[in-house]
Amino acid sequence: STCASSPKVCIVGGGPAGFYTAQHLLRARSDVVVDIYERLPVPFGLVRFGVAPDHPEVKNVINTFTQTAQHERCSFYGNVSVGTDVSVEELKKAYHAVVLSYGAEGNRPMGVPGENLAGVFSARDFVGWYNGLPSNKELCPDLSSDTAVVLGQGNVALDVARILLSPLDFLKKTDITQQALESLRASRVRRVLIVGRRGPLQIACTIKEVREMINLPETKADMLPGDFEGIAEALKDLPRPRKRLTELMLKTVKVDEGSLKAIKQWGFRFLRSPVEVLPDADGKKVTGIRLAVNTLEGSGEEARALPTGQTQDLECGLLISSIGYKSLPIDPSVPFNSRTSTVPNEMGRVSHTGGLYCSGWVKRGPTGVIATTMNDSFETARVLLKDVDSGTLDVSVNKAGAQEITGLLKSRGVRPVSFSEWEKINSEEMRRGEALGKPREKVLDVSEMLEVAWS
Ligand code: FAD
Repeated sequence: STCASSPKVCIVGGGPAGFYTAQHLLRARSDVVVDIYERLPVPFGLVRFGVAPDHPEVKNVINTFTQTAQHERCSFYGNVSVGTDVSVEELKKAYHAVVLSYGAEGNRPMGVPGENLAGVFSARDFVGWYNGLPSNKELCPDLSSDTAVVLGQGNVALDVARILLSPLDFLKKTDITQQALESLRASRVRRVLIVGRRGPLQIACTIKEVREMINLPETKADMLPGDFEGIAEALKDLPRPRKRLTELMLKTVKVDEGSLKAIKQWGFRFLRSPVEVLPDADGKKVTGIRLAVNTLEGSGEEARALPTGQTQDLECGLLISSIGYKSLPIDPSVPFNSRTSTVPNEMGRVSHTGGLYCSGWVKRGPTGVIATTMNDSFETARVLLKDVDSGTLDVSVNKAGAQEITGLLKSRGVRPVSFSEWEKINSEEMRRGEALGKPREKVLDVSEMLEVAWS
């Protein structure tokens, strides 16, 4: 029929992109109905499993997401893996539009020999471990060596370095998992080197994260003055945020505050790319990394790292590669660009596929903070509604929406977790946290999450 049926939109993924897309759709129109399908029984994606435990203020966005989930025209279906439990085709049949917001669940490999040795981890797994991601529960990183090397110099790399060097008295008051806390308590890691393929002027982290490293108690910066030759002279031509960041690094090279009391060290190492992870005598465990020494071609943000032919070995018993996350294809029916590892799109409209949209990291690639993700999700929602207004997206035919999908799921033995059931998990986690003097103690097991949700 053509009589007023409400546009039914389904969102795949309950991270920031999913919630911000839903928020904009619900606010902009008073008739649109939004259902969010999320693989895990718990919502919020990387806000829960990525953002560092000592950055609680960043997690405040959860309050806004909760309001969205509780909106009368929004429903949350956790514990539903799209591509496995239900296909994108089935969702497209049941809804007027499907928005893919499933993030970037893979990681970029280093692509060098030895990367599978014991003691080598992706930042994704290491972060997932200390943040309670169920699939990383068994990681058990060996923290018994003196030196850790982190490859990559973005904010995730600095999160990892900071967690490795932070005082336990501080971490124990965060929502870091108790299991990670116990490992870190026994940790002998005293030195963390953060390695990048380009120079100080190309570093990818932001000033806040560098300042946090500088302010770590009983820890001193160990930089190589030679890495900063000519950098002071380049300052005047830099855009302001980069200038301030560079000034701060220059200061840490000169001043060595806290060095008297320092028992731990951290430092950047520049112009180095991984060549090979070096094994121990048994060929099982990492003992170091061989790095290519690079030189820069060009200058500024665009400068390229070129190998000089020289190499350098760094000893380490723990190696964490933080060179980027990567989206994975979700379903053979959805276009995927394997070069950029994103779903090809124009402003969020999936190319050549009517009724299909995308937002967040799967749309843009795995960079940018939550605010960036918010803006691009709003853009996708705007574009979708524009298509409704222009008739490009036909909403005149009534669609069964969640009724159809929950029927399918039931026939397949999949029971979704509703938002109020998540709130039971939430309360249980806060209760467990309170007993330990922390804001939350996460449930690490999917089966235990389900038990709590359905108790
Ligand atoms: P995600 O947050 O990854 O959400 C995707 C969701 O989709 C997940 O919940 C996932 O379970 C779900 N999903 C995946 N596959 C399926 C499927 N097949 N079916 C159903 N659901 C599925 N930003 C900041 O502003 N401040 C910070 O301090 C900060 N720290 C960060 C630390 C780390 C380690 C990382 C990796 C990122 C950090 N960010 C930070 C960036 C921020 O997390 C991202 O910008 C944002 O989370 C991207 O949102 P998204 O929704 O696209 O992806």
